[in-house]
Amino acid sequence: MTQRMRGLQAWLLLLVLVALPAARAQAPLELGPRSTDAALSPHVSYRHDATLSDRPEDAWRHVAEGDFAPLPDGKDAFGFQRGAFWFHATVVNRNPGETRWLLVQEYPLSDRLDLYLRYPDGRTQHFAGGDHLPFHARSISYRHPNFQVDLPPGQPVEVLLRVESESSMQVPLHLYTPAAFTEISRDAQLAIGLYYGILLALFFYNLVLWISLRDASYFWYLCHITAFGLVLFTLNGLGFEYLWPDSPWMADHMVPISICLALIAMLQFARTFLELSHRAPRLNLGTIALIGFFVLFGIASVWLPYRLSTPVASRAVLLGVLWILFTTIQVVRQGYAPAKLLLLAWSMFLLGTAVFTLLAFGMLPKNFATEYGVQIGSALEMLLLSIALGYRYAQLRNENQRITNEANQQLERKVAQRTQEVRHALVQLEEAHERLRDSSRRDALTGLYNRSYFHEGFDALLSEARDARRPLSLLMVDLDHFKSINDRHGHLVGDDCLRWAAQRIGRVLRRHDALLARFGGEEFVVVLPGHDLASAVAVAEELRQALVSEPCVSQDLRLRISASIGVHTIVADADSDMDDALQTADRALYAAKANGRDCVRTSISAA
Ligand code: GH3
Ligand code: MG
Ligand code: MG
Repeated sequence: MTQRMRGLQAWLLLLVLVALPAARAQAPLELGPRSTDAALSPHVSYRHDATLSDRPEDAWRHVAEGDFAPLPDGKDAFGFQRGAFWFHATVVNRNPGETRWLLVQEYPLSDRLDLYLRYPDGRTQHFAGGDHLPFHARSISYRHPNFQVDLPPGQPVEVLLRVESESSMQVPLHLYTPAAFTEISRDAQLAIGLYYGILLALFFYNLVLWISLRDASYFWYLCHITAFGLVLFTLNGLGFEYLWPDSPWMADHMVPISICLALIAMLQFARTFLELSHRAPRLNLGTIALIGFFVLFGIASVWLPYRLSTPVASRAVLLGVLWILFTTIQVVRQGYAPAKLLLLAWSMFLLGTAVFTLLAFGMLPKNFATEYGVQIGSALEMLLLSIALGYRYAQLRNENQRITNEANQQLERKVAQRTQEVRHALVQLEEAHERLRDSSRRDALTGLYNRSYFHEGFDALLSEARDARRPLSLLMVDLDHFKSINDRHGHLVGDDCLRWAAQRIGRVLRRHDALLARFGGEEFVVVLPGHDLASAVAVAEELRQALVSEPCVSQDLRLRISASIGVHTIVADADSDMDDALQTADRALYAAKANGRDCVRTSISAA
């Protein structure tokens, strides 16, 4: 070949390179002699097959015709999309020590992956993956779809990947040597393990608290942590790996369902924690409505197409968290202190979720902070919620303590008051009892002691006198011709006269230490302790005169009332009993009557 020919050939090649649309294809990925892993994205071009009409040969043709475009802004996330996406890249392996590589799609939720490899010799290979195939179909048991590919050194191998999925279209492709993959995946597993470790620790810690405290908030917190753990388990691809490896249906539908469960628990938790029913009844209604929506939507997601329910659920997460945030702010503004911690917790979660959601819609680049944003945010959130629960519990306990103390003080005051009242009632009762006892001893008409009390009193005075060896005198006072007063003026006048006589006798005896009683009818009896016969006669005389000295006035009548009095003295060493004494005094009275009435006679003079 001449120099000119070679020059022409170079020109032609240049012309072909410039003219062919294939010039838009990305540069091949060169795996260096020492490289052990590489991201494919910068070398990937793509084509959107919205109508699902392309077969592999069509795709190869489109590659050849340059219908593939570089990733927009180099981003490998497209959000929720219809149809299939085709990705193409050329890989040249310059590492002679590594011919076997692992191609990993670092997004676990894609439904169907078809990988086609084309070698320089025209040989092609096909691999299938995604969560619409059972988990064990994967080259390596790992949460991300992966394919073991042979990359012979120095040969350009074309990689064509078709992705069809109702989930978010994210295709971050990475090539690893087996050793590099082991190291990388070990770190990722550690991070995930740490996250679920935190969740489990919080779960069991709060489970114990719930069992002992029986506070509804703890229960909903447990539900929230469980459901949310499930959401992330599903999103990480671990649900498919460990919980439902043979169920593509579960792999798809558990995303919206677990999101709904998490939101229901989250809203219920907020409702009980913030005590919305009495703190903010309207917000409470709004929260219940939202819970109702998530219940219905959760049930509907069982039948709804995944492509429809997942974006709605993802957006609803934001709505739910924003609503809780709004509600919490309102309750914080009411001055409920535990709500502040809650606010901080939701903010953390909101931040993490927002970051993740933006990533899912292709609005943020994928890196550690965005990919693990939800994990970081939610771990902080759940930790803060747990602290908030403790704080709230302490507040409730203090409040309870205060109420108990107040109730105790009130109770003590009441007991003291009641005791005072009871004491007062007892005194009154005692007084009433005393009055009753006294009235039972008294004669209703004259107010003097009655005959039965007289017997008691006389008996006591008699034994006292006997013990003290002192004399005791007994006076029998009987009004004269009383029957004729009744007969002439009627009983009412007779009663007046009886009262009048009792009063006058009582007044005279006030000066003496005497026992006076109405013995019956118009007859009175007087006991004079310490009086010998002479002094008793003197008192009797005084009584008699007190009656006749003034008339008794009743109903304009002036009536002269006189009495006959019998006196008997029981001397110190005499052995007479009460009845003897009364009989003897009665005999003396009889003598007085016989003597013409209105006079005093003694038992000695009577005998
Ligand atoms: P003597 O001088 O002998 O004692 O005559 P007397 O009429 O007082 O005696 P007598 O025993 O015959 O009558 C007593 C009367 O006293 C009979 C009764 O009508 C009257 N009397 C007794 N108790 C009451 C009373 O409570 N009220 C009134 N109004 N009269 C009474
Ligand atoms: Mg009489
Ligand atoms: Mg009489």
